[in-house]
Amino acid sequence: MKQLEDKIRDEGQALSEHVLKVDAFLNHQVDPVLMQAIGREFADRFRDAGIDRIVTLESSGIAPAMMTALEMNIPFVFARKRKSLTLQDDLVEADVYSFTKQETNRISLSRRFVQPGERVLVIDDFLANGEAALGLTQLVESAGAVVAGVGIVIEKSFQPGRDKLLERGYQVESLARIAKLEAGEISFMEVVR
Ligand code: 5GP
Repeated sequence: MKQLEDKIRDEGQALSEHVLKVDAFLNHQVDPVLMQAIGREFADRFRDAGIDRIVTLESSGIAPAMMTALEMNIPFVFARKRKSLTLQDDLVEADVYSFTKQETNRISLSRRFVQPGERVLVIDDFLANGEAALGLTQLVESAGAVVAGVGIVIEKSFQPGRDKLLERGYQVESLARIAKLEAGEISFMEVVR
């Protein structure tokens, strides 16, 4: 998606060979016009997948997931990283290891908001090692629903997440695919669509 790649080039920062900082438009300050375009692009790519609902992870998945849900006219729900007082029982849970934070979070979702048999689109901001996305697919499947696709805003294609998702048979659509990061330089995959 050209608009997203341009934004990453202009405002993203390669902090190292592994980490891209995008807090100017995606995961701290949020660019609503870009999010709207992202929502339209995901809606376009999954238009024929018969999606009933979107599941994402707080907090950075919320903006792209919400814009996609609005565009597709379907509900979305975000998995929580911490238990809340009001989110106590009838949960599905999965453990997600974060390589960036070097810690495991138990993520959870209320069964009330994912019905058995529903076709669910999983959306997240980044795909790196695939832990977060796989945790989300696990929640969906534990609730008895079907993962109908995985939509990623920024994929770091030099890390193994994409292959892990493809191995499990999921359709993966990433709006920007990064081939390589070097301090100060960001290279994208040549994508033929
Ligand atoms: P994974 O579980 O695929 O290893 O990583 C996905 C999660 O880690 C994302 O939801 C995101 O929060 C975080 N993450 C992974 N790599 C990066 C990165 O290069 N930059 C930022 N800002 N977050 C990242």
